[in-house]
Amino acid sequence: MTMSVVSGGTRGIGQALSLRLAALGHQVVALYRGDENAAQQTVRAGDGRIEALRCDVTRPDEIRSVCARITAEHGAPGVLVNNAGVNRDRPFLAMTGEDWDTVLATNLSGPFRLSRALAPAMAAAGGGSIVNVASTTAIRPRADGANYCASKAGLLQLTKCMALELAPHIRVNALLPGFTDTQEVTERYRLDEPSRRAAVLETIPERRLGTVADIADALEFLVTARSGYVTGQQLIVDGGHFMG
Ligand code: NDP
Repeated sequence: MTMSVVSGGTRGIGQALSLRLAALGHQVVALYRGDENAAQQTVRAGDGRIEALRCDVTRPDEIRSVCARITAEHGAPGVLVNNAGVNRDRPFLAMTGEDWDTVLATNLSGPFRLSRALAPAMAAAGGGSIVNVASTTAIRPRADGANYCASKAGLLQLTKCMALELAPHIRVNALLPGFTDTQEVTERYRLDEPSRRAAVLETIPERRLGTVADIADALEFLVTARSGYVTGQQLIVDGGHFMG
């Protein structure tokens, strides 16, 4: 049975990814930072296949101990999904060092540290697939997100470097969601206001927000043998909002 690790795996997109992997028959360790309710709800929904472990990906000590525990109790993962991410949006001239440090530590250093901790065991056990959840704003900038866009752009290059060095054992790809219907996005863009929602939909050729299931479908491709010859790539799932 494949064992999978999903960071930020108990809420929003990450929860959907954990549940999809469980539905594929994987044993899933869903890492979370602090939302106990979401963690318990995800475990219940996982029907015995999901375990939630607390791990703040900005804390190297927590990453070390949780990865040691995972490999001791379950062996090497076959899949690692670096999904945990945060926004601290602010105009560039008002952005603080802390805004910058928090976002870079979570969105870029987190995937580095988790991958660095788990990849040796993955490779030794015969390999697997790492998926880094980036964003279309890694490629196209947006206002008030210098920290976020830079972190996700860095994650794209990290993805390619890892793909280069971890081949032929571990495939490493980036999954780039566009506007995806999560509570975080609805609140940040105030999408429950009909006029604001309509204005966003106007910019998306498919005329709808992405669903977490759309992102899980793309993940399913990237972690199964159907993408066995795909590594170092960027899979954009955004209804045509950004076409490169
Ligand atoms: P949410 O805010 O709903 O979920 C974020 C998740 O990341 C939570 O599970 C949270 O854990 C976890 N997390 C945050 N900081 C840390 C940390 N320091 N250590 C461990 N876990 C942490 O976000 P989404 O589901 O919307 O986004 C998921 C990913 O997709 C992110 O990487 C985001 O950048 C990316 N993305 C999302 C888009 C969207 O439209 N939704 C668009 C493009 C990219 P906890 O619940 O415990 O706090």
